[in-house]
Amino acid sequence: MSRFECTDHMKSFLQELPKCEHHLHLEGTLEPNLLFKLAERNKIQLPSSFPKNIEECSKRYASFEDLQDFLNHYYVGMSVLITEDDFYDLAMAYFTKAEQDGCLHSEVFFDPQGHVERGVSVDLVVKGFDRACRDATKKLGTTNKLIMCLLRHLPASNGMETIKSVEKYHQQGIIHGLGLDSSEKPFPPGLFIDCYKEIKQKYPNVGLTAHAGEEGDYNYVIDSLDKLGASRIDHGINSKQSNELLARLAKNKTMLTMCPLSNVKLQVVKDVGELPINLFLQSDVPFSINSDDPAYFGGYILDNYISVHTRFGFNINQWAKIVNNGIEGSWCDDKRKSELKQILQLVIDKYTPLL
Ligand SMILES: [Zn+2]
Repeated sequence: MSRFECTDHMKSFLQELPKCEHHLHLEGTLEPNLLFKLAERNKIQLPSSFPKNIEECSKRYASFEDLQDFLNHYYVGMSVLITEDDFYDLAMAYFTKAEQDGCLHSEVFFDPQGHVERGVSVDLVVKGFDRACRDATKKLGTTNKLIMCLLRHLPASNGMETIKSVEKYHQQGIIHGLGLDSSEKPFPPGLFIDCYKEIKQKYPNVGLTAHAGEEGDYNYVIDSLDKLGASRIDHGINSKQSNELLARLAKNKTMLTMCPLSNVKLQVVKDVGELPINLFLQSDVPFSINSDDPAYFGGYILDNYISVHTRFGFNINQWAKIVNNGIEGSWCDDKRKSELKQILQLVIDKYTPLL
């Protein structure tokens, strides 16, 4: 049950806020309609246990039994991505949807290892995604950056090979960040020290982040900061377990990229209202609100903003602070940040008399 009403004015305000998304897996944006289209285009036979059409698939996605059930569907989805155009279409569909939600800057994850192990060349993946990033800027006016993630359930040596395989894309500035995703336990951040060190030494401008503190405890967050040198943390909600850590995150302005609807879907919390959002605000810990794997978790960035509003009922100033922190924590340049802040001010001015 919603505790706070999200009025039409409030919905329009949340839509128009110049939002930035920092925690989004491109592979997790594969909607059933594109999945079936690509399966047909690439003549892929889906397993007999997989839903037979878009309607069945959407229904199935709305009721995953657990993490493994979600992953089983997720990996079938991955199997239809074969050509450069597939990766382009996937990313373009997300950028288009994000722009409709008022998301003006996205920093998006992709998992090269998940494609290379299926025999798909990393070049096709990066080229398709990069072309979509550029076209989104041209056609939609949004800015977008690619973050390569390493799958932590694979050995760090495989991660190192992956880093080497995309060397030229780092040199060309096409890949802007390094992340670490997949199951946190039993794969603590410390396993990947060498991978992060390699990136830090060779490409000091590349941003470093890591999934931590979603299922792992607050020490996963501390280790991501200390051992990997991460400058922001994906999820990070278990930072709530340590006041010392909260003070550190606030002092260093280390942003947490929260994913409310994903947390409910994967049973990290029962309800968005249980998330430590008020604690983070009061402790001055910056965070952004994101959609994680929106095709599977029931909502894009605006749905996540609305879900937070219905549970926390923030006022215009609190929302302005959240969005401003998202802009500040982005890896875009100062010029883009000031453009986004100007838009934020216009939206605040427009809605102050209405809300
Ligand atoms: Zn994630």
